[in-house]
Amino acid sequence: MTLPGSPHVAYRGDTLFVEDCALPELAARHGTPLYVYSQTAMQQSVSAWQRALAGRDHLICYAMKANSSLAVLQTFIDAGCGFDIVSGGELQRVLAAGADPAKVLFSGVGKTREEMREALRAGVLCFNVESEPELDVLSAVASDSGQTARISLRVNPDVDAGTHPYISTGLKGNKFGVAHERAVAVYRHAATLPGIEVVGIDCHIGSQITDTGPYLNALDRVLDLVEAVEAHGLRLHHLDLGGGLGITYTDETPPAADALVALLLARIDARGHGHRRIFFEPGRSLVGNAGVLVSEVLYLKPGEAKNFCIVDAAMNDLMRPAMYDAWMGIVPCRLRDGAPVTYDVVGPVCESGDWLGRDRALAVQAGDAIAVLSAGAYCMSMASNYNSRPRAAEVMVSGNRAWLIREREQASELFRGEHLLPPG
Ligand SMILES: *Cc1c(COP(=O)(O)O)cnc(C)c1O
Repeated sequence: MTLPGSPHVAYRGDTLFVEDCALPELAARHGTPLYVYSQTAMQQSVSAWQRALAGRDHLICYAMKANSSLAVLQTFIDAGCGFDIVSGGELQRVLAAGADPAKVLFSGVGKTREEMREALRAGVLCFNVESEPELDVLSAVASDSGQTARISLRVNPDVDAGTHPYISTGLKGNKFGVAHERAVAVYRHAATLPGIEVVGIDCHIGSQITDTGPYLNALDRVLDLVEAVEAHGLRLHHLDLGGGLGITYTDETPPAADALVALLLARIDARGHGHRRIFFEPGRSLVGNAGVLVSEVLYLKPGEAKNFCIVDAAMNDLMRPAMYDAWMGIVPCRLRDGAPVTYDVVGPVCESGDWLGRDRALAVQAGDAIAVLSAGAYCMSMASNYNSRPRAAEVMVSGNRAWLIREREQASELFRGEHLLPPG
């Protein structure tokens, strides 16, 4: 049985492995719910981007919100990546992992003054500015502290990435970026501001994009702007084309990263922009297929309308199905004989929206381990403590070695920092 997603998550005989580590054994050793990642899958994903950019002045900035666990960040630091961050918390996290702040881009529509100060103090590579008021505040914050903020404007190219409305970001109605029509005026304004140095331009049109068309359209719109901005005597040194490349959850066929990059570089060269530094900000495509969430079947609950397979992982551990109606593969960690039964796979949280998969044919029994596939991106990083559920543990696998990279959270940690009211 071949599985969608990564070749590093595969059956050997009746047992599901991540690289050379059997998932039932990892589940027995570390308990469930348990995230397990293939480090090799992450390394191979990033090297596809790097291969395509070899010989160019470039930086691949891993969009760490996809999975911000320290050992994952460390894996990308070791691979030579920079990072795309969206908060002061992510800045602290990536610095704790050992990243070079000079390889960090700071994106996001709602940067606070304090976050700007921290990022300036750290010396980040570039602020991806998303609005005119943000630009003015950044100018004030930088000049107050006698520093200069390097900026690019995130422009909204108004292209449809053809993806889920919640993860589409490049349309006029989205909160992200500066409108295409305003961009030249905002750049000219930026050039007059103290504490601001214009260095580049960026766009990011959405996530889980499975087609090259939207990328090429966005690139053309961005290059039009570069030309218009430079006609006013400003210099844009880098092009940041964002992230958004999709992965295979079931039968999607996104372009390979190197094929997409080759196509974009060809267009960049054809339009005479080949000398510019190129940034990408991939998140999902670097980690999504590298991870699985292992969970134990607690109860099978047959019903008239539906059969339920109740597992010990829930929407707080893995929110994508509840939040985006996302389909993720669910398979047993050990195949067993017997006819599959169709189940809704659900967690213990007290919400009808707490489901991991609907109408899945599974041959499982209580006590079995199951794996949710392609759970490396936007899963652990979105985990919450709803229902006072401690967050899952995480294991990184490389070959036959497995490291616990995050201990299972303890319930007592969940109310640390809370205070009872004084008596009386
Ligand atoms: C989320 C995000 C990314 C990464 O998107 P993926 O779809 O995970 O590749 C890149 N850039 C910005 C600004 C983002 O917000």
